[in-house]
Amino acid sequence: MKYKVAILGATGMVGQKFIQLLENHPWFEISGLMASEKRVGKIYGSEVDWIVSERVPENVSEMEMLPMDPRKVDADIVFSALPSDVAKDVEARFASHGFVVASNASAFRMEPDIPLVIPEVNQEHLKLVDVQKRNRDWDGFIVTNPNCTTIVLVITLKPLMELGLKVVRMASMQALSGAGYPGVPSLAITDNIIPFIRGEEDKVETEPLKLLGSFDGEKIRFADLSVSASCHRVPVIDGHTEAVFAEFEKDVEVDEIIDAFESLKPIADLPTSPERVIIVRDEPDRPQPRLDRDAGNGMSVVVGRIRKDGERGVKYVAMGHNTVRGAAGASILNAELMVKEKLI
Ligand code: NAP
Repeated sequence: MKYKVAILGATGMVGQKFIQLLENHPWFEISGLMASEKRVGKIYGSEVDWIVSERVPENVSEMEMLPMDPRKVDADIVFSALPSDVAKDVEARFASHGFVVASNASAFRMEPDIPLVIPEVNQEHLKLVDVQKRNRDWDGFIVTNPNCTTIVLVITLKPLMELGLKVVRMASMQALSGAGYPGVPSLAITDNIIPFIRGEEDKVETEPLKLLGSFDGEKIRFADLSVSASCHRVPVIDGHTEAVFAEFEKDVEVDEIIDAFESLKPIADLPTSPERVIIVRDEPDRPQPRLDRDAGNGMSVVVGRIRKDGERGVKYVAMGHNTVRGAAGASILNAELMVKEKLI
């Protein structure tokens, strides 16, 4: 028997990616699709401006879209790909009606009793669900995944923490799909770079401290780390590339960094887990979004150009698929982990 899953924001960029990734999922089957009010009662296949693959998957093309009313939805898990301002009310409504909500939106990420999780980085933070259940008068609960730029960065920072990581500076080159659909106007981005993404730097500078922090039984103690980010939109369709500059307490060697990256283990027995969480490439011109974004079915982070940067510093380039590892795939992996941990 499969778990029933419903998708909030099913017509958008991330919503479509959810549908694509869930088409043949061994544990989950889609039982409901929701978007804005105007879609209610419409047939998904005729309503959506489908852009993530050749065709709308058959399992959803004839589905009638539902209102965002928990009483009308039959599901074990609700995946949310809603804009944050909408997510604040809607996700709370679903959680209060007993649903497990796995969210991409930023609305609840930094709330002290809401887990912000990357399974390979901080799966123990799922224990915050008990705190959340005590604090809130909800029958269900919310678990979130990070911003798409944060997730690529933090997957690479996690194994560096044990080497005494202290300061991180990062400049991103972020894909267009990260801005949703229809997103950035073509005349603004073709032959251009836009050196500003509203709200992004704040998320990338704060979310890692929670993700890399430790759970003390009641709350997350934030990691002792300083992160500074500069975020830029570039004319790439999928795949965020990040130039990372890391400073350590002591002298570090490139070989130690490579060993650390390669030591980050996938979570066993989850269908969406990649074989390798971080793939280190030694060619001087990798990673590149066009060549590397589908590594591990979009769930691996690809790292290259690892080199010394002063005595206590290292710099490298990391790249990850923003709508897979950075969004829909991240929520699905969290939901799989919750099933494995018997939270669902
Ligand atoms: P998007 O393409 O703009 O899609 C937004 C979705 O939300 C659409 O289905 C839209 O439905 C629905 N929606 C908008 N306003 C609504 C309202 N008032 N009531 C109900 N539904 C409404 O955005 P996206 O890129 O998929 O992003 C979705 C969420 O994921 C955002 O919170 C974003 O920050 C987060 N996220 C995105 C990425 C990424 O790489 N794109 C990565 C990580 C996290 P209609 O089509 O009916 O308007």
